[in-house]
This record gives sequence, structure tokens and C-alpha cells, in this order.
Amino acid sequence: MRYISTRGEAPALGFEEVLLTGLATDGGLYVPESLPHFSLEEIRSWRGLPYAELAYNVMYPFVEDAIPADAFRKMLDETYSVFTHKAVAPLVQIDSNEWVMELFRGPTLAFKDFALQLLGRLLDYVLEKRNQHVVIMGATSGDTGSAAIEGCRRCKHVDIFILHPYQRVSEVQRRQMTTVQGDNIHNIAVKGNFDDCQRMVKESFGDQSFLGGKTQLAAVNSINWARIMAQIVYYFQASLSLGGPDRSMAFSVPTGNFGDIFAGYLAKKMGLPISQLVIATNRNDILHRFMSGNKYEQHQLEHTLSPSMDIMVSSNFERLLFDLHGRDGAAVKTLLENASKGPVSIEDYRWKHARKVFDSDAVDDKSTCDTIRDIFEQNEYLLDPHTAIGVQAARNCRRDLAVPMITLGTAHPAKFPDAIAESGLSLKPQLPAHMADLFEREERYTVLDNNLGEVHDFIAKHWKNA
Ligand SMILES: *Cc1c(COP(=O)(O)O)cnc(C)c1O
Repeated sequence: MRYISTRGEAPALGFEEVLLTGLATDGGLYVPESLPHFSLEEIRSWRGLPYAELAYNVMYPFVEDAIPADAFRKMLDETYSVFTHKAVAPLVQIDSNEWVMELFRGPTLAFKDFALQLLGRLLDYVLEKRNQHVVIMGATSGDTGSAAIEGCRRCKHVDIFILHPYQRVSEVQRRQMTTVQGDNIHNIAVKGNFDDCQRMVKESFGDQSFLGGKTQLAAVNSINWARIMAQIVYYFQASLSLGGPDRSMAFSVPTGNFGDIFAGYLAKKMGLPISQLVIATNRNDILHRFMSGNKYEQHQLEHTLSPSMDIMVSSNFERLLFDLHGRDGAAVKTLLENASKGPVSIEDYRWKHARKVFDSDAVDDKSTCDTIRDIFEQNEYLLDPHTAIGVQAARNCRRDLAVPMITLGTAHPAKFPDAIAESGLSLKPQLPAHMADLFEREERYTVLDNNLGEVHDFIAKHWKNA
């Protein structure tokens, strides 16, 4: 399998290189040159498989040039055995033909564990083979950081530096990052917002001279193809559990960087019958504005009760734009260059093509809280604010009541106690037993100014062999 850039100029790469690269040299994102396609018969034959085996079937075509089948199976068994539910991604019914897929049974209680537990193992495997070291530099609005740190804490060949916006992640989220001990783990709190952190990471990939040529950067944010790949699997899992592929499914996905929902779009292209994908955003609604009015325009960042979705631009949206433009990298490049200067639209027929499967909605904090409260009062089931946005958007956008509607449950409610309190419920969500002492653990992080030079100096000084 070869991977090509969405901007059409960078060289095509194999899986190993794509895993280690991050952004393409032309500023684009890597996507598979072609996707594997599974027949209904083949998908049907996967019914009842344990999660790790299903994951093998769905993902092996993407990695087969780089990793022997046995090694990959072993990696997947290890990856998904750290989840605390035997089904790995269990479904919970919340109404007639309406479901939440709980993707928060991993070590950091958010769906990002699905990809990052695997990514850490993939990286160490490939780096061991190549006798190479990398510095991971990542930006987080909360959940990515802890999941990346948990995913890489045992990697021998990786130092990890995670930038989070100072005082802008929840205390649980911060502690999940800063209490992990390990001399290859470094937390940096930047006095800025998430987009400042993300911009620093992007610029660092463009010019890595601060590392003195002794190591190289690798990405763990959702521009890394391997993360998207791992997220395709649970769409198959949910569908197979509810009668797929012999009936189609609808998914509602709490969306920030467009990684998780893009994986759903790929599952559909790989043959899984999906009739609707709902892009659920909070007040940072650039994607909703695009989907409802074909206008792509950056607004000011707003801070909401769902911080993991507080972003101004969704990096992975570029991957969809690439497809919508018939995989013409030059067209994507021009469009995105224009988009950085002001509002842009795409040709009407391309936009209508996207609208065939994608719907969207933006849910504000008040409505998020109402949903948390309603679902709790109806079912005694507690949603986290991100998942609540997904559930509310699903209800507002539902096309066909006969099609199962599955909202991706992206985080455990105990990660966001403020939103639960705001919703008027008097209960305090409990952390699962294995994390009950989180507030007693010792924290370690460094606060730096919103200044790329300072961050570079820190990294250059602190990676293992510096
Ligand atoms: C990261 C995250 C999202 C957004 O996912 P994207 O892939 O960036 O769209 C939604 N909810 C939670 C809890 C998250 O951590």
C-alpha cells in the first residue's frame, strides 16, 4: 500500500515512512493511494469475532508491506487487552433504535486510546527494526495528550513532548497527562490556546533544525494516518453487532479535528453500508457552517463545556476535500491557501456530493447540558458533554428512524465533572476504580510562554540523548 499527499507534490511513501512522518513535505496529509474494499459476504463472515481479530481483518491491508501478519496480530491482541470491557467498544441503547458506542473503556477514558495504544506499539516495532529514535511532539486540547503519553510510556525509542494550553484543559485531563512517570515523558503547558499549540507543532515539523540533526520528529495528532486507520475498525464492530452489513447504519460523531468521522467515511468507502454520518460540533462550528451553507470560514475560537472539540480549523477535513476534488492535490492546495485568507466555497456539485452522506449540527453549551440531564432522567445513563453533543445532533439530523443511529461515545463523564454540574444534576461522576487515586498522584509539567523558540530550547535540552 502506497500513501500520497493531499497536496499532490510530496513523494508517495510506504506505511513505515508515513507512520514516522506526520505532515507531508508539501504541507499536505497522507492518505492511502487506494482503499481495500470488502464485499458484504466478507464483512458478514466477521460477525462475532473478538475485537482484535476484526481489527486485524480491517487494518492488515494498510500495513502488510511493513509488518508480518503474526507480529501485527500480537500487537493488536496486546493493544485491545488493556481495555476494561471485554467487548472493547460496547453498545448501550438509549432509545428505540438509538445507541451510544462506548469508546472510553481504555486507559485514559477517551476514544483516542483506540488509536494511540496501537500507535505506540507500531512506533516501537518499526523503530526497533530500524534502530532509530524519534521525538514525538504533539498538541492537545485535552484527550490526545494523555492518550499519547499512555500509548508511548513504555516505548524504548521515543521521547514524547506534549503541549497543552495552560489552564485550558480540565483538571482530570491535566492530571492524566502530568501524573504519568517516565523519563521519556515531558508535559509543556503553553500560555496560549490549543490552536497556538497546534501551530507550534506544525511549524516545528516544517523546520526541525532545533534538534540538531540527531533525531527526528514524529506526529501523534490525528494527522498521523495510523490513528485514522485504527478508528475505522469500530464502525465495522458497531454495524456487525446490530445486523450489519445487511442493514445500513447511521453514525453521529462528536467532531473536532474531523479524524474520527473521517474514519467512518472510510469505513463506508471500504464497503460498510453507512447511510448517514452526522458531524456534531459545539459552538466552534466551522464544519457545520460549511455543510449547511457551503462556506468555509474561520471564526474566533470559543471556549465551551466540550474542550476537546474547541478548534477553529479541522486539519483532517483536508482529507475529505481531497476526495471531493477528485483527488486533485493542486486544487486542494489552492483552496486551502485561499481559505487561510478568507471565506471559500467549493463547486456546488462537489458540495452536494458531500451532503449525500454528511449531515451536521452545532450544539451550544445549554443544549449540551439539557441533553445530559434528559438522558440521565430518562435512562439513568450519564453522558459526557462531547457525547451529549453527538446524541443531540443525531436527534436533530435523523433521516430514517428504521436505521440504527449510533452516537460515538467519545469520553467518560468523569473526565468532565464541570459540565455534569452545569447540567443541574447533583451527582458527581466517579472515576473508574483503576483511576480513583488520580487526585493524589504527583504532577510534573513545565509552563512556557507562547513562544516557539522557548519550546524548541526546552525540547533540545530534554530529549534522552541530548
Ligand atoms: C478528540 C475528541 C473529539 C474530537 O475528535 P476528532 O477526531 O478530532 O474529530 C471528540 N470528543 C472527545 C472526547 C475527544 O477527545
